[in-house]
Amino acid sequence: MPRRRALIIGGSLGGLFAAHLLRAAGWDVEVYERIGEDLAGRGAGLGTHDALRDMMARIGIDVVAPLGVATHAYVCRDHTGRAVHEIKLERVMSAWARLYRPLRDALPDENYHPGMALTRAENDTRGATAVFADGTRMSGDLLIGADGGRSTVRSQFLPDVKPEYAGYIAWRALVPEADMAPAARAELTEHLTFCIPDGELMISYAVPARDGDIRPGRRDYNIVWYRPIDERRLADINTDASGFRHDQVSPPLIRPEIIAAVQADARALLPPAVADVFAGAAQPFFQAIFDLSSPRLVFGRVALLGDAAFVARPHVGAGVTKAALDAACLADATAAMPDLDAALAYYDRERRRFGDWIVARSRDLGACIGLGATTAHALTPEYIMREYAALPADVKNWAAGTLQRAIV
Ligand SMILES: Cc1cc2nc3c(=O)[nH]c(=O)nc-3n(C[C@H](O)[C@H](O)[C@H](O)COP(=O)(O)OP(=O)(O)OC[C@H]3O[C@@H](n4cnc5c(N)ncnc54)[C@H](O)[C@@H]3O)c2cc1C
Repeated sequence: MPRRRALIIGGSLGGLFAAHLLRAAGWDVEVYERIGEDLAGRGAGLGTHDALRDMMARIGIDVVAPLGVATHAYVCRDHTGRAVHEIKLERVMSAWARLYRPLRDALPDENYHPGMALTRAENDTRGATAVFADGTRMSGDLLIGADGGRSTVRSQFLPDVKPEYAGYIAWRALVPEADMAPAARAELTEHLTFCIPDGELMISYAVPARDGDIRPGRRDYNIVWYRPIDERRLADINTDASGFRHDQVSPPLIRPEIIAAVQADARALLPPAVADVFAGAAQPFFQAIFDLSSPRLVFGRVALLGDAAFVARPHVGAGVTKAALDAACLADATAAMPDLDAALAYYDRERRRFGDWIVARSRDLGACIGLGATTAHALTPEYIMREYAALPADVKNWAAGTLQRAIV
């Protein structure tokens, strides 16, 4: 059988997992990324799951080196810094570049095309064609939309499916551990810190530095602080100093008074050590939190993958793991079934089950944000941390089930 060719739209983590796992299953792959520069500069902490490590190993990326920083417990602190609840749990917290760099480096440059923005996908008799902003047309047996939560591919085939704002944003800050006071380092870097101000949730932890270093003192410290705000206020904070309103304002354009206000709130609401770190961040930024579920993932020879298909709120910390498992399911199904349409139908069915589950689970976890003191039960540290602590095992069970079924 001649080698089949996949056109992958989106060269972030989902697109890279798809490229590697399909190549290993006998496909030729071409990855097209809208952004012209290397993506490793995207600095953000990422929770990991066993399945993510398994997928890196399957690709052949050295997993003897840890994927990230090992943490040993979840500790909830109040705004004075007092520990109010603790659960022992081993987790590995990673960072964007620690995953992106080896995945990107392991893919030959001739198969990765930066600065190529897809404008349209077309099904045709042989397979699918990608049409790019510069007029280039490329054809293959399969086109994969791995182009994120605001996917161009999805909006073409499912124009009514749009990200739904969850009612809150995540403020994020990343600070070199070397810049933290010794007492803050001692208090914060060995475990995940939770803080639960009224109707809000803050989680912070040490992550690999942008160059991948995981040695104590060389790492970064990552803060994610979920805060409810209504859509009018969201539009306001997405408006830059010139009065231009962005869908998602880029970090350097966030107005200084907005940063000053959130830093002042951090002083009042978060443990002092965390507020200090937040105040020391060169560029705090926020991301609006969305839900997205696609009722279909396959349209002829076009398939959606990763955030283009489903966006689970970040509480599950599994968006990258989900994208990797999507890619594994697609690769395994196409390897096992010579009929590509049958393999795609299988992929569509299996990954919708997982996507629907993980979106629902992440909604449950986020449901406490914005509710305030009226729902005291749901907001107790015991409840929230128990729910968070149950997640890794849940994701593991679902991942194992998916992979078993995919190896048909
Ligand atoms: C606050 C927050 C915290 C998170 N924490 C975690 C965590 O702890 N663990 C975890 O696993 N996940 C986490 N996530 C989720 C994770 O970031 C995403 O699930 C993951 O990045 C999805 O990868 P993706 O490749 O599907 O999409 P993306 O990373 O969004 O990549 C899509 C790519 O497609 C490109 N693109 C878009 N349109 C086009 C086009 N028309 N043509 C060509 N290219 C295009 C984009 O430039 C981009 O590079 C978090 C998310 C948020 C918001």
